[in-house]
Amino acid sequence: MNAPLAVKPVPSPPYWLLAELTYRCPLHCAFCYNPVNYTAVRNELSTAEWFTVMQQARALGAVQLGFSGGEPLLRDDLEELVTEAHRLGFYTNLITSGVGLTEARIKALKDAGLDHIQLSFQDSTKELNDFLSSTKTFDLKKKVAALIKQYDYPMVLNCVLHRHNLPHVDKIIEMALALDAEYLELANTQYYGWAMKNRDQLMPTREQLREAEEVVATYRARIGKRCKILFVIPDYFEDRPKACMNGWGSVFLGVAPDGVALPCHNARDLPGLSLPNVRAMSMQEIWYDSSAFNKYRGDDWMQEPCRSCPEKAKDFGGCRCQALMLAGDAAATDPVCAKSPLRERVDQIIFHAANRTVPAAVAEQPIIFRTDSNSRILASAAAQTKA
Ligand code: SF4
Ligand code: SF4
Repeated sequence: MNAPLAVKPVPSPPYWLLAELTYRCPLHCAFCYNPVNYTAVRNELSTAEWFTVMQQARALGAVQLGFSGGEPLLRDDLEELVTEAHRLGFYTNLITSGVGLTEARIKALKDAGLDHIQLSFQDSTKELNDFLSSTKTFDLKKKVAALIKQYDYPMVLNCVLHRHNLPHVDKIIEMALALDAEYLELANTQYYGWAMKNRDQLMPTREQLREAEEVVATYRARIGKRCKILFVIPDYFEDRPKACMNGWGSVFLGVAPDGVALPCHNARDLPGLSLPNVRAMSMQEIWYDSSAFNKYRGDDWMQEPCRSCPEKAKDFGGCRCQALMLAGDAAATDPVCAKSPLRERVDQIIFHAANRTVPAAVAEQPIIFRTDSNSRILASAAAQTKA
């Protein structure tokens, strides 16, 4: 008699749809999470195609919708997309660098029903903000912050942290308070995409992180509920990995500009994953039936030590992209975990960061900014390595 087939639990519906409307962006951030070869991604979804994506995702049960990019304001149809999302009953969030958010557009977006705007800064100083994004955008971002307040949105600021701006955390908080922000997200760099290319340039020391955490704690005690400060430390410095995406194919459904559906932001980098496209499959088929969204659901795919670990329901074995980058195997235990036999690789990276100076690092390898020409160079180098 055949052994009974293992029955996988039916996944819950997606909660969060991330619409990456375009990879085009006027900024050139050194830590950008977009794919390094983004210039190879063409043929953006049309307005009508995004309507179908949103309608199908909402019918599946998704309730939160993030419009991101690149810079989503580069899409002229953003107001139309927000109108449709609002009609469908999504809670909508615009994730923006602020470039292109004129008064006419914020008014139109408000009229369209946009619920929330998250504005990114690179630093509290014009010099570093403009250096890290390789643009002159600091003054413009301040004007946009004032517009966001004027149009009665909660002020949500985001600043990605790394070794260059961690010593300014107090000034970044002061800037957020001066702009009357209700929320400040201080997210330490996660090392994917362009940030991975610049990891040696961006990785902080343990001491920098400890000092920044102390500053944040002091401010939290002093300002109370006036501004909620979120401080996300890089998981390299923890002994357990992050519960990436709250579990693969569990709550998050990303759609890239060309319609590729993503179980996580960086899934394109995982080899052997046949990513579905919304032009060829419905969102229902993508979420429940596609091989990509099922690949790391549950725990059948896990290796030891995750497979028999009592904590596997907490962190799902960590991040698949990080496992690939650090262990060379997307199904391995995320090497950030102290139980991983490869944890030493993470410790070496941290040790390396602590034992070099910024000028020396810069001299060894200049920062690679996210530009179209760098994207093409890196994509062609990667293709040659594969060949
Ligand atoms: S991280 Fe910077 S370059 Fe990348 S999409 Fe955001 S604003 Fe643009
Ligand atoms: S061994 Fe795996 S499941 Fe256990 S704590 Fe580490 S990463 Fe999580």
